[in-house]
Amino acid sequence: MRFDGKVAIVTGGARGMGASQARGLAAEGARVAVCDLLDDEGKGLAEELPHAHYCHLDVTDEGAWQSVVRTVEDTLGPVDVLVNNAGIIHFGGVEAQSPEHFRRILDVNLVGAFLGMHTVLPGMRARGHGAVVNISSAAGLTGFADGIGYVASKWGVRGMTKAAALDMAGSGVRINSVHPGVIRTPMGESASPELFARQPVPRIGEPEEVTRMVLFLASDDASYTTGGEFLVDGGQTI
Ligand code: NAD
Repeated sequence: MRFDGKVAIVTGGARGMGASQARGLAAEGARVAVCDLLDDEGKGLAEELPHAHYCHLDVTDEGAWQSVVRTVEDTLGPVDVLVNNAGIIHFGGVEAQSPEHFRRILDVNLVGAFLGMHTVLPGMRARGHGAVVNISSAAGLTGFADGIGYVASKWGVRGMTKAAALDMAGSGVRINSVHPGVIRTPMGESASPELFARQPVPRIGEPEEVTRMVLFLASDDASYTTGGEFLVDGGQTI
């Protein structure tokens, strides 16, 4: 199995795509740290999975990242895989979105992913291997109306992924971004069906279709792949 003996952190792992990623990693042998704010859902999932552990984590809290990574190392072992998946959306255009919502979206979606890498990468560099997968969005390659903060955050994740991949050059650590289209999760179900009706694959995507890409990038199957952006969007962005 591709993740036998490996340790993986999945943020926003309690539900939606994160829960699917946690399940997929565990099914291929990983010991998974499910990290989220949703304690009941997260604990329930961790109890279902072999060798999993739930950690309460607000990804915007730098101190919490330090203590979660220490706990994960003590309970599961050194971190081989980080999936920065936690994210939020508040709809609103450039005039209507409140500065508070704009800042909060950037804090969770962009700063949260930065803090994850900032905390985990020194250990990966020291061990000479590791993989990070940052969940951006199709909105990290295009724009959409009424999504000013979300679009900005997801372009940020895409750019930050490339910068970090270059920072880790020669270290054995690879960093890539994944760009889902509309996916059947609590967040994705809020999107209008018109969004995917005109796609070449004219349906909503399933979380497992994104998970398969995340697992590829997190595994040695992607050993020659870093700084890349990978669409799982049914052709939405063509
Ligand atoms: P979701 O709302 O179903 O799940 C997101 C999870 O992140 C939740 O469990 C939530 O509690 C957690 N979370 C939110 N803020 C957090 C914080 N501060 N600290 C820790 N955890 C936090 O969403 P989803 O659809 O599963 O989205 C997962 C990722 O995929 C997000 O980054 C989202 O932006 C991205 N995405 C989703 C879609 C879609 O259509 N569903 C499309 C493109 C990209």
